[in-house]
Amino acid sequence: MVIVMKSTATKEDIKQIERLLERLDLGAHISTGMERTIIGVIGDKRLLEGVPLELMSGVDKLVPIVEPYKLASRTFQPESSIIRIGNSSIGGEKLAVIAGPCAVEGEEQIIEIAKYLKSMGVEFIRGGAYKPRTSPYSFQGLEEEGFKLLAQAREETGLLVVSEVISTEFLDQAAKYIDVIQIGARNMQNFQLLREVGRLKKPVVLKRGLASTIEEWLNAAEYIMKEGNYNIILCERGIRTFETYTRNTLDLSSVPVVKELSHLPIIVDPSHGTGRSSLVRPMSRAAIGAGADGLMIEMHPNPKLALSDGPQSLDFKEFGLLMEDIKRISQVVGREM
Ligand code: PEP
Ligand code: MN
Repeated sequence: MVIVMKSTATKEDIKQIERLLERLDLGAHISTGMERTIIGVIGDKRLLEGVPLELMSGVDKLVPIVEPYKLASRTFQPESSIIRIGNSSIGGEKLAVIAGPCAVEGEEQIIEIAKYLKSMGVEFIRGGAYKPRTSPYSFQGLEEEGFKLLAQAREETGLLVVSEVISTEFLDQAAKYIDVIQIGARNMQNFQLLREVGRLKKPVVLKRGLASTIEEWLNAAEYIMKEGNYNIILCERGIRTFETYTRNTLDLSSVPVVKELSHLPIIVDPSHGTGRSSLVRPMSRAAIGAGADGLMIEMHPNPKLALSDGPQSLDFKEFGLLMEDIKRISQVVGREM
């Protein structure tokens, strides 16, 4: 439930409600809008039964959150969230680009990529250390060594590091080396992993499940937020449909849908979304046109030699062209690059 305050409500009115909620063992999430303040009530709303909240000074009305997810909904927080990561952020005016190889393959590869990305003005590097591969015979990642190489890349360039964690047992290790924890599509409904990531206060990129509805995806975000971690960036990465030409069907309509339903930022991964490098630039342009807050792009110095996902990886030249495209489009959609 949210408490919508009158535009004439005073700071003291708001404080009084916060104090009342605290006495009832409930949390208050204050959203200060241009016009009015909205107070999201956190916790079991049955504790409010019989409490005449609507009669309190400054209160306009009480609005129930009808969606099954609460903290993630736009009713709970009308203004869009900006997720701060180091000196950077995702969800504000500035578009975020997270780029790098599917998998960290070795020192030379990741440092070369990191230096290139830095020279292009990119702020985030991605790279898998633990890879959730469909076949157990495919390259599974360098594991902790991969995290260490990513941390080295950050030290040498200042880039922020995004990498996937596939199991709760690797969370402490990940927290030592990386800046943003990625929850992959295959783990979007690994509820224990979601809960434990919620207890770590690190920012999270939460990818949409291979066959998940938008509602299931927002409920997955809710699992993390319920534990107190509100630093979530949603990532659309395509869903399974009957189409086989592309690896997945990149559901770009989820971008404006998520913007309507939630205050969380959303980025798009056209690499896994299409599985084909030739489609990454056009779908990136479309994603930014649709209102995405950024992109996650797989790239490699030599995609033909990549140990995983070469066919969808851009080489440096193609990545440079993509960055030019996005810079131009950012001006049209009123975003910065
Ligand atoms: C990835 O980003 O490396 C990845 C495995 O993506 P997804 O979980 O979307 O398949
Ligand atoms: Mn990949």
